[in-house]
This record gives sequence, C-alpha cells and structure tokens, in this order.
Amino acid sequence: MQTTIRHNWTLEEIEGIYKLPLLELTYQAASVHRQFQDPGKIQLCTLLSIKTGGCPEDCSYCGQAARYHTDIKVQALLPTEEVIAQAKKAQEGGSTRFCMAAAWREVRDNRDFDRVIAMVKGVNKLGLEVCCTLGMLSEQQALRLKEAGLKAYNHNLDVSESYYKEVISTRKFDERLQTIQHVRKAGISVCSGGIIGLGETYRDRISMLRTLATMDTHPESVPINALASVKGTPLENNPKVPLWDMVRMIATARIIMPKTIVRLSAGRVEMTDEEQAWCFMAGANSIFTGEEATLLVTPNPTFNADIKLLNTLGLEAYSV
Ligand code: SF4
Repeated sequence: MQTTIRHNWTLEEIEGIYKLPLLELTYQAASVHRQFQDPGKIQLCTLLSIKTGGCPEDCSYCGQAARYHTDIKVQALLPTEEVIAQAKKAQEGGSTRFCMAAAWREVRDNRDFDRVIAMVKGVNKLGLEVCCTLGMLSEQQALRLKEAGLKAYNHNLDVSESYYKEVISTRKFDERLQTIQHVRKAGISVCSGGIIGLGETYRDRISMLRTLATMDTHPESVPINALASVKGTPLENNPKVPLWDMVRMIATARIIMPKTIVRLSAGRVEMTDEEQAWCFMAGANSIFTGEEATLLVTPNPTFNADIKLLNTLGLEAYSV
C-alpha cells in the first residue's frame, strides 16, 4: 500500500504506531523506508564544534552549559581557515554534509556572526552541504545565512512541550518553534529532532514526534539522539536508553515522516554494530561521523569503525 505524506497526525495514531509489536513496527517502517528512500544509502555528516562550552543556557543534559562543572574544554570561535580545512578533510572522507555548531544561546549581530557567515561561504564553495546550529535566530539572521549558502539549520525540539521546562528553564519551547519558523521562511532546510533518556515518558516522545510531523512541511532531517550523559550535568546518572526505545522512536519517525532523513545521532558509541543495524533497518539513514570520533563534546564511533560497519552491511554513503 502506497503511504501518503500527512500533516494531521493525532497523538492516538502515533501512539498506536509506537506501541506496535516491535517486529511489526520495524517491518512497517522498513516498508515505508523503501517507498521513499534508497535503503542502501546512508548520509554521512560531519559535525564540528566551532565554539565550545561557556553557554549561558541550562539544558540539563549538556556539558557545554557554563553553570555545570564538567571537564569540557572551553574553546572560543575557531579561525575560519581552520574550519574550511576541517571541512575539506571531511569531504575527502566521504561526508556530504558539514555541520558547524556554536554553543550560543542565540546569534548576535556582531563580528562573530560575520565570521560564521564567512565559514558558511567557504564550506559551501567546496561543494559540501552546509548546516549550522547556532542557537536562536531572527528572521533577518536566517536570511543572511541563506544568502551565504546555508543549506540546513539544526534546532532540536529536544523534548515534548509539556516536559520542556523539566529539562531547560532558560528558554521556552515556543522560542524553539519560532526559530524553526524563521529558518523555514528563509528557505533553509530544517533539521530538528530530539533526545530520549532525559526522564521523559513515552507519551512525551510521541508528543515531540507529533509536533514535528504536524508542521506544514516536515523537517528535512530529524536527528534522534539517545542521552550521552556527561559527568557534572544534572542528568549524569540517568540510565542508558534501551536499544528498543531507539528503534521505536526511529521507526515511528520514519512512518509518520516518510521523506525525512532520520539521523541516528548521539548514543551510537554505546551501541554494538548489530544494534546500529537495527536502527538502520527501522529507517535511520544518516549518521554523524568523522576523524575526531566525537560528537561535539561526547564520544562517537571512530570513522574507520563506521566505514567498516557500512561495508559489512553493504550500505553506501548517501548523497543528496
Ligand atoms: S544544548 Fe546548546 S543551548 Fe543548551 S546548554 Fe548546550 S550548547 Fe547551550
């Protein structure tokens, strides 16, 4: 049966999908995946932290929040040439998307933003898809990024609207949505997903997925992260997310947003190859990888391990 793209999902419908018997859920997700995506391909993205730590926000999972005592090394905005050199390296390794992340609350119209604009132009010139995650953005700032050649902007919802205040108190869920609207209006692709393992219920997960799947246009990519706990943060002792919860999230996202790239993001380092293969079977078709073997400030599998896994599974790097 051909699946249609819908934007009117109800919580009950999504819950019905999320709670299907696991093998049936995976089978349905894999079937939808085959209608809308090339199941033999995985998009490789490289994420570089261009400014690390010292963030004024209080996201309780994040080692970059200045208020928590973590081992994260604070790093000012990197020089433009260094960023371009890293992007070249990522491209040589097979990455098709290069994401630059700055631990800012919001973008300010200052010299640092001018430097980020120069980075976007430089990476774009290499022929890579450029993505940024810089915090909250105004409409004007989104337009400037678009003009510089930005392809996508990441701004995760993180959790459901009702659980949001339990995780972050320094900004509101609505502000997240507003930035996403500014990005969309500027004609930039939206990358927005969430994190599981923050103490939320499965209903919170479903609610977060519903917010994404009822947007007028589904985000072009949806990262699904498992909490990578960081020592010194309020959530450092949260239990590891069970694999089956990740599989359920990925499969549900795949079924309700068939055209979206679903990115298996943080938490991969804790997974075996077999567990990652389950996630690909459930419809994940993108990963972060790179020489540094880190995802911002948490560990990630090594690049060689990723390539070996893709080869074992007969998967190819995905190019969009
Ligand atoms: S998740 Fe982003 S906004 Fe929140 S504390 Fe970390 S760097 Fe700051």
